[in-house]
Amino acid sequence: MEKTALILIVFTNAFLVLILGFLSFLVYKLFKHNRNSPQSGDPMINIPQSEFHPEVLKRIKELEKVKPKRSELFCPNHTEEPGEVTCSICDKLFCKSCIRPFKTMHFCKEHIPLIMKYEWDEIITIKTSTIEPEQGVRLFDIKKNLLEKENIPTYIETHYKINVDQDHIETYLVMYGIKENVQKLKEKITNIKLH
Ligand SMILES: [Zn+2]
Ligand SMILES: [Zn+2]
Repeated sequence: MEKTALILIVFTNAFLVLILGFLSFLVYKLFKHNRNSPQSGDPMINIPQSEFHPEVLKRIKELEKVKPKRSELFCPNHTEEPGEVTCSICDKLFCKSCIRPFKTMHFCKEHIPLIMKYEWDEIITIKTSTIEPEQGVRLFDIKKNLLEKENIPTYIETHYKINVDQDHIETYLVMYGIKENVQKLKEKITNIKLH
């Protein structure tokens, strides 16, 4: 009789341990699932970086290397004012009192006189798409290099066209330069090759 009771107790205990184990497993699974499920409003979360185009990946790596310093997030003229608007020529952030709107863009105090003083003309127009963004990225790199290395100011304006036949919106990046530089820049950029 005593032996049967002992066996029963052992079995009940073993059964309880099994049930507890199973419950912990369920809780763990649920927790893990919740953590991995995508947050709404963040559609990028489920795209593994390995699926990005190599050019885009390269760019992401470069951007990670140059994390903005505190000074870059504040207006260069007012170190306590957070920068709010970017100048379309130098791409630096300025506070509202240091930047002027012009057409669809904004220019800093150093660059707005250039916009007013000179005639600007189109250098190149490229059609971009979200599927192949590398051409656009390349154009912005060229713009940055022209200003930093050769002190040639340019700006890039985004134009949208509605394609009625195919019922979608096309995006164009149009690069402008000071008219007297345009011919030289056109040749330079075709030599760099965007494609
Ligand atoms: Zn500027
Ligand atoms: Zn300022």
